[in-house]
Amino acid sequence: MMSASGGTEAQAGETGDTRASGGCLCGGVRYAVRGKLRQVVACHCTQCARTTGHFCAATHCDTPDLALEKGETLRWYRSSQEAERGFCGRCGSNLFWRRIGGGEGVSITAGTLDRPTGLRMGYHIFCASKSDYYDIADGLPQHGANSE
Ligand SMILES: [Zn+2]
Ligand SMILES: [Zn+2]
Repeated sequence: MMSASGGTEAQAGETGDTRASGGCLCGGVRYAVRGKLRQVVACHCTQCARTTGHFCAATHCDTPDLALEKGETLRWYRSSQEAERGFCGRCGSNLFWRRIGGGEGVSITAGTLDRPTGLRMGYHIFCASKSDYYDIADGLPQHGANSE
């Protein structure tokens, strides 16, 4: 009951500094990440091509580390049996990818992060599915499907 400094009221929100923040183009969706972010992975699969217009560059965090600060325009589209994609229903920005039922964290499109991100692109996945109008020539590792 005492409010001395160093009290034991620490619960949610005390897990660390905001590691990153970001949002959509119109500002309807704003998020913060409190925790580790993976390096950026570029996915060249056909679903990412259609939803992003090119390929998808995304980081990734644990689900509890992602805090939605503004989500009034956030919509979810079930893009496959296993996964759904979060986007802004007003400006169309592509923001999130997660497995149905969770458990594997959330992917966050790297371009929606506020800058500087402190991240770097790590490698490419689903290169065997990429469209024919571009080459991957940055010297980073390329995987035909996923990284396993
Ligand atoms: Zn928006
Ligand atoms: Zn993909």
